[in-house]
Amino acid sequence: MKNIILTGDRPTGQLHIGHFIGSLKNRVLLQNKGDYDKMYIMIADAQALTDNFDNVDKVKDNILQVMLDYLAVGLDPEKVVFFIQSEIPELTEFTFFYMNLVTFARLQRNPTVKAEISQKKFNKNIPMGFLCYPISQTADITAFNANIVPVGVDQLPMIEQAREICRTFNNIYKTDLLIEPQAVIPENKVAQRLPGLDGAEKMSKSLGNCIFLADEPEVVKQKIFSMYTDPNHIKISDPGQTRGNVVFAYLDAFSEKEHFERYLPEYKNLEELKAHYKKGGLGDVKIKTFLNNILQEILKPIREKRKTLEKNPARVFEILFKGSDEAKKDAEQNILKLKQAMGIDYRNNLKNKN
Ligand code: ATP
Ligand code: MG
Repeated sequence: MKNIILTGDRPTGQLHIGHFIGSLKNRVLLQNKGDYDKMYIMIADAQALTDNFDNVDKVKDNILQVMLDYLAVGLDPEKVVFFIQSEIPELTEFTFFYMNLVTFARLQRNPTVKAEISQKKFNKNIPMGFLCYPISQTADITAFNANIVPVGVDQLPMIEQAREICRTFNNIYKTDLLIEPQAVIPENKVAQRLPGLDGAEKMSKSLGNCIFLADEPEVVKQKIFSMYTDPNHIKISDPGQTRGNVVFAYLDAFSEKEHFERYLPEYKNLEELKAHYKKGGLGDVKIKTFLNNILQEILKPIREKRKTLEKNPARVFEILFKGSDEAKKDAEQNILKLKQAMGIDYRNNLKNKN
C-alpha cells in the first residue's frame, strides 16, 4: 500500500510553539525520512471560515502567515505539496456525499466539536458549516487517499469520525475504495496538547495564550516571565508543585539533555530539577531563565528564515498555487472513483454500454 500523508492548519493566526511541538516538528521528520509516496499540507481556509465567515480578511491574511511559518520550520516545497483548501472544489463534492452518512446526533456528540461549540459560545446557534466540519475534514483526507494524518490529540475524535465515514461508505456501496486513515500523534505526552501561557489546557490561536514562532526575542522573554507557575510557591524556600505548572510543562516538551549541559550544568536532567523545585529552594526566576534560553535557541533560526521569506510573498504564493493545481488534479481523479463506487458516474456508464 502507498503511504500518503495529509495534514493542515486553519489560517486563523500565526503558528505557535504548540503547533511546532505537536505537529510541525513531526512533519519535518516525516518529510526528511522520505518514507512516503506523497505528502500534502493543506491550509484549511474553508474550514476557518466556518467560524470566521464574517471575518474573511483575517482568514485571507493568515494564509501567507501560516505558509511563512511552514517554510521557516523547514518544510520543503520540493518534497511537500502545499495547497489552499478552497482552491479544490472537489472537496465540496466529497463533503456533500458524505453528509448522507452521518447523523446530526453523531456530529453533536463529537467531543472536539462539543468543546469548540462551548468555547466559541455558539449555544444553540451553531452554524451548519461549523457542525459539519468533521465531515469536510474526512473529505480532505480521502480526496487524496491519505492514510497517515499527523495531528495533535485534540484532533483524534476527528480522525475517528473519518474512519467511521470510510467504513460506512465502503459498507453501503460495497467497495473497498476508502482507506481508513491513521492518526500519528507525538510520543511526548505534553507535546500532544501543549497548555497555554495562562495554564488553559491548550495553547490555541483562538484563545490568545500563545508564544508564536515569529515572536521577537523580547516578546518571548516577556511572555515566559509572566507565565503561570505555582501560586503557593511564594518564597524561594517554599516547596513547589511541578504538576499544573506551565513552566515545567514547557520544559517537559522542549528541554533536552544538551540544554542542561549548556545552560544549567548543575542539574543532570529534568527529574533532578523537578525534585529540587518540589523540595523547595529553587526560585521561579531560575527555571524561567532556563526555559527562555531553550526557546530562544529553538526559535532563532526559525525567526531568521521567516524574515528572509517575508520579503518575497509572491514567491510564497507561487508555491501555494502550484501545489493547489497539483492537488486539484489528484482530487479530480479521486472524485470520479468515488462516483463510480456509488454508481453515479453516468457518462462513463453510457460509454461502457456503447
Ligand atoms: P484554532 O484556535 O483556530 O482552532 P489552533 O491553535 O487550535 O487554532 P489548528 O489550526 O486548529 O490550531 O490546529 C492545527 C494542528 O495543530 C492540529 O493538528 C492540532 O491538533 C495541532 N495543535 C494545535 N494546538 C496545539 C497544541 N496546543 N499542542 C499540540 N498540538 C496542537
Ligand atoms: Mg483548532
